Amino acid sequence: METTLVESTLIQNGFLVLPDRVIKGDLRLSGKRIQEFNTQLSPMADERILDAGGAYILPGFIDIHNHGAVGFDFTLGAYDQEKDWFNKDDTVYLEGITRALEYFLKQGATRILATTLAAPPTDLIQAFHLLNDYLGTDPAGLAIALAGINLEGTFIKDAAFAGAQNPEYFQSASARLFDRLQDASGGNIRIVNIPPEHGIPGLELTSHLSGQGVIVAGGHSGAYGTATHQAIDKGLRLAVHYFNGPNRQSYKSFSHNGAMEAFLVRDEVSLELIVDGFHVDPAYVLDAIQRKGIDRIIPITDSLFINGSDTINAFSLAGIPGQVSADKQYLKVAGQMDTLFGSILTPLKGFTNLLDWMTHDRNGIWIKTHSGHSKHEALVMISRMMSGNPARLLGLDKDQSTGAATGMIAQGYSADILVMDLTQSDQGMPSIRHCFLAGKMIY
Ligand SMILES: [Zn+2]
Repeated sequence: METTLVESTLIQNGFLVLPDRVIKGDLRLSGKRIQEFNTQLSPMADERILDAGGAYILPGFIDIHNHGAVGFDFTLGAYDQEKDWFNKDDTVYLEGITRALEYFLKQGATRILATTLAAPPTDLIQAFHLLNDYLGTDPAGLAIALAGINLEGTFIKDAAFAGAQNPEYFQSASARLFDRLQDASGGNIRIVNIPPEHGIPGLELTSHLSGQGVIVAGGHSGAYGTATHQAIDKGLRLAVHYFNGPNRQSYKSFSHNGAMEAFLVRDEVSLELIVDGFHVDPAYVLDAIQRKGIDRIIPITDSLFINGSDTINAFSLAGIPGQVSADKQYLKVAGQMDTLFGSILTPLKGFTNLLDWMTHDRNGIWIKTHSGHSKHEALVMISRMMSGNPARLLGLDKDQSTGAATGMIAQGYSADILVMDLTQSDQGMPSIRHCFLAGKMIY
């Protein structure tokens, strides 16, 4: 991928999607940061000028739940289709990271979290060493887009709630194991799924992680409400792919319902939502947005290595057989009716779906109707959900030792910017004309 860094870029004639409004104007990027924006800025000598021509300018998307793409899985390595096997030789794995980052930059994500499956700890440690090496050496100049690791599968407890994760590799809640993994990763684990049903050890691990700024999530959970509220009291802040997982739901008042109800009623908790239109019916997506509020929803892809590959139709992953649906729109566990297996959703497609769903009148499930918003209202809300909220969850909305804050268009923020054409193309999709990563024009 060709990349260029010039000192200053002026993007003219765009619609800037800000956290509270859309304005027509110009945006100046200087070095790695957003320098300024206004309804009109005068060009300076020697700066690159891009005419947006009425295109929309948004902060890059942040995908906090992403297992890989284009044949690469963050836990297992590069997929060899002939052998139905993953290659985790160092160079193959490191090249795979670059391939995945390039793919997601094309799809609008300027930050992703490498998300792991349940796997033997030795495999995780090997992968985490390589991810840490990659961040240290930055072989392709894209490492800033890898915002760390989301440890999803390791501490799932109940096989009945495994989804497409392999129960053989589930571990008990253990600070010692976490510390070993965090050590191998060079401190880059940002989110850990600890379903609330681990009892005291789970609560202790939750406190241990919250105390050091690691986000505790809950999902693939059979917990009742009582245990879930206790975990939230200790610091649990994120529901893993809400509505999917599966997770315990209970209408009964015993034990304060289930995990699903607790995640919904507690304002401290944000909800991940897979917005491919298959995992969660759009009616429920809109209900969840309405119930939790715009600032508590984080759209995710849950992308699997199949994403971006046309040739793979069946596969096995960590011992679980999967297949691509006949219409190539989703993945399922082979032989099961409706157990979905990650997704082949891209951030761009998720954005497109939300823009469609939120600009039309649609029926909900629990909420009778959702009135469509204007395009600009919807863009502000979607941008906050896809960039602002995940940045705030991870603390990326503040200056980092490794660089500037990200997640919105604001002065001094990292120049992680998309220039998007929102008129429908032949494929019926908005497209991304340009992408900047920390001031570098990726395309
Ligand atoms: Zn999952």
